[in-house]
Amino acid sequence: MVVGGGPAGMKAAVIAAQRGHHATLFEAERRLGGQALLAQMLPGRAEFGGLITNLQRELELAGVQIHKGARVDRAAVMAEAPDVVLIATGAIPFRPAFPQEGALQIVDAWQVLRGQGTIGQSVVVIDWRADWIGIGIAEHLAQLGRSVRLAVSGIAAGETLPLYVRDHSAASLHKLGVKVLPYMRLYGSDSDSVYLQHVCSNEAVVIDKVDTLVLCTGHTPVDELSDSLADLGVETHVIGDAASPRTAEEAVYEGLKVAAEI
Ligand SMILES: Cc1cc2nc3c(=O)[nH]c(=O)nc-3n(C[C@H](O)[C@H](O)[C@H](O)COP(=O)(O)OP(=O)(O)OC[C@H]3O[C@@H](n4cnc5c(N)ncnc54)[C@H](O)[C@@H]3O)c2cc1C
Repeated sequence: MVVGGGPAGMKAAVIAAQRGHHATLFEAERRLGGQALLAQMLPGRAEFGGLITNLQRELELAGVQIHKGARVDRAAVMAEAPDVVLIATGAIPFRPAFPQEGALQIVDAWQVLRGQGTIGQSVVVIDWRADWIGIGIAEHLAQLGRSVRLAVSGIAAGETLPLYVRDHSAASLHKLGVKVLPYMRLYGSDSDSVYLQHVCSNEAVVIDKVDTLVLCTGHTPVDELSDSLADLGVETHVIGDAASPRTAEEAVYEGLKVAAEI
């Protein structure tokens, strides 16, 4: 029983089925792909969707039974009575606690990509990870005509990306007029200001006349299911972002590795 139809669960189900197990994949949403469905929506990242297309084809060829729109809980596992449960329930955006006074609109990167909520004209993007998400969201909103400040906690936007990817995005941000603020820590917000702090000097940096604050502050695992199964005595493995939020590469690799060892 594979729970979660993102990259980790899809790969795990394929490998388990190829090895002769009766593999069934359960996905809460109506579409397979997990976060890869969002990743492909960032500017210039459409090819990321190929990951889903390829894994879908692999699932088909391996003859995996798939249940979409099927959110699995403890009762569902008991009803299925599997020999092994692979938990690939992924992650959701991490929302840090910080002082907030007033009703500034605050959204996360996933809400922006899903078109949830109207994003105001003046936007501050907080980026803790310096990966594809902060830089991509800043570019996406600037393409939509928003005035964007990208506040990164490290030395540069996209610091963790390969050189050529990062430089390409840096060029786009520059052309679109996105202002990058390095070494910034999120300190707080009020109804129309965002309070930052320089991580080295501790000096305050205040951005006024802000309409929307966008949080790209990493992910937190969705792993409640494994705790709820602890007393059932079923062999259980947690893989991909559900074990620790990282990248699709680790998710696919862990799906392959765990299913190859069952
Ligand atoms: C905007 C964005 C851009 C990204 N860009 C990149 C990139 O360029 N390169 C890269 O390598 N990684 C990227 N990532 C990260 C990558 O997409 C994730 O690391 C990867 O998708 C994790 O795979 P997963 O299968 O572990 O979890 P997820 O992709 O989170 O999938 C988990 C699935 O489990 C389902 N689920 C949850 N609970 C249940 C339940 N109880 N029952 C049934 N189903 C359930 C969810 O609906 C979801 O479909 C990006 C992520 C985002 C959000």
